[in-house]
Amino acid sequence: MEQHHHPSAPSSETRPPGAALAQRPFSRRTVLRAGALATAAVGLAGAVPGAFGGARPAAAAALPRLSRDAATAAEHVPAYPASWTVRPFNLTEVSLGESVFTRAQQQMVDLARAYPVDRVLVVFRRNANLDVRGASAPGGWEELGPAPDEQRWGPAEYVRGQNTRGAGGLLRGHYGGHFLSMLAMAYATTGDQAILDKVDDFVDGLEECRAALAATGKYSHPGFLAAYGEWQFSALEAYAPYGEIWAPWYTCHKILAGLIDAYRYTGSALALQLAEGLGRWTHARLSACTPEQLERMWGIYIGGEAGGMNDALVDLYTLSAAADRDDFLAAAALFDLRSLVTACAQDRDTLNGKHANMHIPTFVGYAKLGAWTGDATYTAATRNFFGMIVPGRMYAHGGTGEGEMWGPANTVAGDIGPRNAESCAAYNMLKVARTLFFEQQDPAYMDYYERTVLNHILGGKRDQASTTSPQNLYMFPVGPGARKEYGNGNIGTCCGGTGLESPVKYQDSIWFRSADDSALWVNLYVPSELRWTSRGLRIVQEGDYPNDETVTLRIAEGAGELDLRLRVPAWATSFVVAVNGATVASTAAGTATPGTYLSVDRTWAAGDQVTITLALPLRAEPTIDRPDIQSLQRGPVVLSALSSSTKYLQVSLYDRMGLDGSLSRGVDVDEQGYVTIGTQRFEPAFSGQDVAYHMYVQRSEKRITFAGVDSGAANPTRPDGTSFLDEVWSAAPFADRQELLERVQTTSAAWVAERLMSARDRQKVLVAVARAPFTRPAVTR
Ligand SMILES: [Zn+2]
Repeated sequence: MEQHHHPSAPSSETRPPGAALAQRPFSRRTVLRAGALATAAVGLAGAVPGAFGGARPAAAAALPRLSRDAATAAEHVPAYPASWTVRPFNLTEVSLGESVFTRAQQQMVDLARAYPVDRVLVVFRRNANLDVRGASAPGGWEELGPAPDEQRWGPAEYVRGQNTRGAGGLLRGHYGGHFLSMLAMAYATTGDQAILDKVDDFVDGLEECRAALAATGKYSHPGFLAAYGEWQFSALEAYAPYGEIWAPWYTCHKILAGLIDAYRYTGSALALQLAEGLGRWTHARLSACTPEQLERMWGIYIGGEAGGMNDALVDLYTLSAAADRDDFLAAAALFDLRSLVTACAQDRDTLNGKHANMHIPTFVGYAKLGAWTGDATYTAATRNFFGMIVPGRMYAHGGTGEGEMWGPANTVAGDIGPRNAESCAAYNMLKVARTLFFEQQDPAYMDYYERTVLNHILGGKRDQASTTSPQNLYMFPVGPGARKEYGNGNIGTCCGGTGLESPVKYQDSIWFRSADDSALWVNLYVPSELRWTSRGLRIVQEGDYPNDETVTLRIAEGAGELDLRLRVPAWATSFVVAVNGATVASTAAGTATPGTYLSVDRTWAAGDQVTITLALPLRAEPTIDRPDIQSLQRGPVVLSALSSSTKYLQVSLYDRMGLDGSLSRGVDVDEQGYVTIGTQRFEPAFSGQDVAYHMYVQRSEKRITFAGVDSGAANPTRPDGTSFLDEVWSAAPFADRQELLERVQTTSAAWVAERLMSARDRQKVLVAVARAPFTRPAVTR
């Protein structure tokens, strides 16, 4: 099925750096169609009185006419809540330079250009009884299923149990929604007219389907748009389980989000109008439910999975100028699972046994609801929720869950199994982290972001060109000898859907700005160019991080006072900042602190250059529940041992320690970031290669050795599991040999006094450390 090709050279149509997104007038085609939509909507709403079952009819009546003129059609930046003291840049204001992310972005842009929109529209057209133009559905879960023509039932036509064909095909439309988001963001990323044309074709096709559905008179609102009938929603309101339905609101979310993205990133007024229609239908449908009914629905496993409906509806509220836009905010709150919000707000951890990705995206919406409504319960719930995942349910690459489910709190090694870490869960946790950061600039959110986008998300994109599939993994497991679940490229799955989006928005969290434009937050060290329109600044970030330790930021255009906030990662042992060659801060001088943002506030001129030298130490990160089960990391990069063994590899590391406490002896790092320790080779988790690997190894430190000199003594252990070498090296870094010798002398004396070590072994240990060939500086590369 798949066709493979080499990534093509960048298109000549790619937007040049610095060019702004063009203002986009309505095409004549679009204006005519939108006008027809408004007319048809009013007519239909009048024709089906009472179809709302108690919802206020006004919700059906008002699909607004397009009233904006061409000059405002490309207004695509949402309003931000006042509580967001930090805000993102638009995708069009940042472009990626050459980095480890480039290959994945280029491959996805190639897919955007190659994949026919008609294929993605098949499920919608078939449901609307329109010609599918000879195309076939994408496949996977985005398929017609066994009964696409039966399943057009309206809510009044369906009685419980009437769908006897199972859930196959009942998620259709979800992948198309992601695909529309991907196209819109790929356009924002490239400025490629051909991709913009695809967005328009897609939105036009969806409008044809919506109009055809409305014309049947079967559905409760003319804004209804889906690739199956409305019955799945009414069946859920009667508590139908997965199997009779799938997850209708999950699918609705993807379509709504795709339309919002099409408006936001391409200025498509028709897309906004379709989104508003879906928002009105949603409000009408759910405001007719009782609070008890909603609470029960949203708790139903899978069937009640509403995805980010609340998130998308808040976005719609911020983007829409419609008179009834408050209804979108009200509708967002109707997706509350109050039991979970309340528990999280009280910091009661009830996640054990819950489906991870069913709930994660709802917290993006809760965070936004908190910001817009001022209800602190939402905000507290989201912050506490994040703390329940990071670090206590987070694997080294940032993923969470086993078999899509959460285990007990503070259980990482204990929850390693065959199918850890669903890709969608990481995709959505990134949204949670950045949304929280907008309101509270806790560096931990962005430490998490870097870890996850670099390792899990980039590593989730297989390094393989395809014109038919996202080439994304489903699970990114962490057990010994695991393989990434690249499968068939995950066409049509949930992770295939989120995997379409991630590579065309890598630039969305590199830089943030303060609400008053006085500060620039540099979150991620990813080569890129920022075109800060409102400040007239163009800033270029360069370097080969995370393969190399030097990052430069150059003021390419513009001037003025600016508080530059540089993220000093929590793992950074050495972070040095120079402005135009003169050092202004460093960890050594105590003026840069790991796990903070460093402020460099001054008046800048074009040509000024900031150089960050960020050491990339090799280190071992123990799991929270099993100190011996550890992940090796180099700077932000998780290193996976290449081995198909299904038992934990036993690894001894203290013998390789340098005085600075980093792993250095017998360690080799190549230019692609592959690391060899002794004879064991490790790949960067972001490699995108399909190999057997171990994300965790088992530390085994049986003997006391220093830099290759074996004392002959065993490494004794306290009853709590702490070993002699653990205690010695916990004092690293050592300024010089003498400091290490003193540490070994005092520690061994104490262990002898506590009868944990014999005096004879102590002598052996002291001889060994005195002979050990430690040199300064320790080699980290
Ligand atoms: Zn998924």
